[in-house]
Amino acid sequence: MGRGIYDKKVLEAFAKVPREEFVPPEYKHLAYEDYPLPIGAGQTISQPYMVAIMLQEMHLKGDEKVLEVGAGSGYVVALLAQICREVWGIERIESLAIQAQERLRKLGYTNAHIVVGDGTKGLPSEAPFDAILVSAAAKKVPQALLEQLAEGGRLVIPLESNYVQILTIIEKKKGKFIEREAGPCIFVPLIEE
Ligand code: SAH
Repeated sequence: MGRGIYDKKVLEAFAKVPREEFVPPEYKHLAYEDYPLPIGAGQTISQPYMVAIMLQEMHLKGDEKVLEVGAGSGYVVALLAQICREVWGIERIESLAIQAQERLRKLGYTNAHIVVGDGTKGLPSEAPFDAILVSAAAKKVPQALLEQLAEGGRLVIPLESNYVQILTIIEKKKGKFIEREAGPCIFVPLIEE
């Protein structure tokens, strides 16, 4: 990509996952352009470059169990499934979740699971997670996600205030949360039930 993505695992995952399989047929010819595309239900598959930045910020080595909140098409779950041991994705819109799970099954990902639900509550039954990625913009950090983060783990989340979204990285170190900003971003809103 030549735009600051140097993590080999991340680059390899992008090379392996066919984005065209995650967009509706009428958008397939645009699947390898670097922008978001509609996936139905008023939602979008995220911009690949932003996804690459987020994945790189997770600092994954390969043996992690991770969570994505806002699984949408399942594209990011597939990328994560290439990189780490086990992936759980939560999506609040059932139709999207069903399609995403079906795509992942067809593509042969046995380490990726999608569940329907409110991701602001995390997924207590599978916690703790070594890293958590939120693919929708939150007004504040959901407490449940901090609680479900393993020691040494990272939460990558777009935070919105005054109509500006900033990609934020929160690291859990010795029980403390260390927050850092990683630049502006644009995501659909995270909707709390
Ligand atoms: N990562 C997705 C991007 C989907 S857009 C992809 O690669 O396609 C963000 C998604 O977050 C939308 O599908 C939206 O329905 C979902 N979402 C918003 N609030 C949510 C919540 N509280 N819990 C789970 N999913 C949520």
